[in-house]
Amino acid sequence: MSMHNDLRDCYWFDALSDDWVARPALDETVQADVAIIGGGYTGLWTAYHLKQLDPALSVLILEAEHAGFGASGRNGGWLMGAIEGLDKYLASCDEELRVAAHREVHGIPATAGEVIRREGIDCDFAHGGAIYAAARYPEQLSMAHAQLDNLRAAGHGEQDYRWLEAAELEAQARISGARGAIFTPHVAAIQPAKLTTGLARVAERHGVRIYERSRVLESNQGQLRTASGTVKAPVIISAMEGYGSDLMSMRRHILPFQSGMVATEPLSASVWEEIGFSQRPVLADYSRLSTYMQRTADDRLVFGARGSYRFGGKPVSRFAADDPAFASRRALARQFFPVLENATFTHAWGGTLGISRRFAPHVAFDEVSGLGTAGGYTGEGVGASFLFGQTLAELILQRETVRTGLPWVYRGDPSRVLPRWEPEPLRWLGFKAAWSLYAWEEAVHATGQSWAWHKRLARRAAELADRVLS
Ligand SMILES: Cc1cc2nc3c(=O)[nH]c(=O)nc-3n(C[C@H](O)[C@H](O)[C@H](O)COP(=O)(O)OP(=O)(O)OC[C@H]3O[C@@H](n4cnc5c(N)ncnc54)[C@H](O)[C@@H]3O)c2cc1C
Repeated sequence: MSMHNDLRDCYWFDALSDDWVARPALDETVQADVAIIGGGYTGLWTAYHLKQLDPALSVLILEAEHAGFGASGRNGGWLMGAIEGLDKYLASCDEELRVAAHREVHGIPATAGEVIRREGIDCDFAHGGAIYAAARYPEQLSMAHAQLDNLRAAGHGEQDYRWLEAAELEAQARISGARGAIFTPHVAAIQPAKLTTGLARVAERHGVRIYERSRVLESNQGQLRTASGTVKAPVIISAMEGYGSDLMSMRRHILPFQSGMVATEPLSASVWEEIGFSQRPVLADYSRLSTYMQRTADDRLVFGARGSYRFGGKPVSRFAADDPAFASRRALARQFFPVLENATFTHAWGGTLGISRRFAPHVAFDEVSGLGTAGGYTGEGVGASFLFGQTLAELILQRETVRTGLPWVYRGDPSRVLPRWEPEPLRWLGFKAAWSLYAWEEAVHATGQSWAWHKRLARRAAELADRVLS
């Protein structure tokens, strides 16, 4: 059976070689020391680190579809040495903890990159850094400067985030209307589906059992039930993120949120000459549209932007090709790079990510019940899941390390210690209001024809929405 017959819309799956064979579903009763629900990066990295720390441990993963089916196989491929809400978490920490946290978080691309290299995972890893450009309209310049000031105030140094003047930026990437940028070396580009399939194979090589097409239907007192099998395990980890269900009450804590992406055909050398990206840095601009893009190893431009929340919060994996979100992303990509005017976009796809109530991710583990989780990455989980999987593994094995003392670690039953989302219709109304303000801000700035007070008002309103939401 081919993995990607129904997934060819997603460039990352479409580009996988055809030697993929579905793993068997669970069809018996088995025992394990640790059972993990979900075969995305969180589940896979947690399993990997558990086996690194204790090779004798029996670890298994139950995945509803196949490894990487969720956000992990579909994302923008930014493997970041950052986590959403980092500075919020560290605001009340002492200097020693803050320095340790920065070291762990900034170090993710190098550390994960070393594991990827050592384990022979071919995922087009390129440690080219990230550029956050002030582009498209002049107001982005003051937004970028304000952000750099915030980063400095939070203790990030010149080696972590530095300013690129327009001319320096041009040497890396040539974007229409660019006025400068913040550069960080702490980001790598990867091919997401290659990372999940490669990592799943590596985990198996280290002895992790992975069952696919094995949706967990019930979790109860050390026991997980699928349609055709049962797992008994003293430790049960939820790694379902935005694809989760009511299992372990995770719906209360993680809000499923959709984001969509498009990819071009492979672009010619002359096009790349015009737009740059020779070191394969990833790139975003300074707007609340949260654009993100990368140059793939086979010379396509893959481009995404902030997504949307659907009433009731359900995971979505299939999107109509004529979804207006895709047309707007193609138009935005052409705005950044007018040379793409006649380029063909070959793929358009989306996926569901998970947002925690604090807009900042968490690791939670309860030594008493053996229940744990990691997630709530809020769109920044590719790198974070490496660190969080390692942290969760250490908590499970009761190894106290610098990571288990970081402020995103909650001790206790996840369903009790993690912050909860408001019930509907409040969530939907909150997002709807914020998104309308963001759209207004973008429209006011992007047309370039508004009054200064109008622009200021739109920006203030959007900032207020940011604050209220988080
Ligand atoms: C379009 C898009 C672009 C993104 N871009 C980036 C980016 O560039 N950089 C970045 O850092 N982050 C990005 N993200 C976010 C990132 O992909 C996620 O944070 C990360 O992949 C989360 O990994 P995970 O393993 O926790 O969850 P997932 O990968 O979503 O995995 C959850 C898994 O659980 C399985 N599952 C659910 N319920 C059950 C059940 N009952 N039984 C068994 N299995 C179950 C699902 O099938 C799924 O495979 C993006 C996300 C999207 C959607």
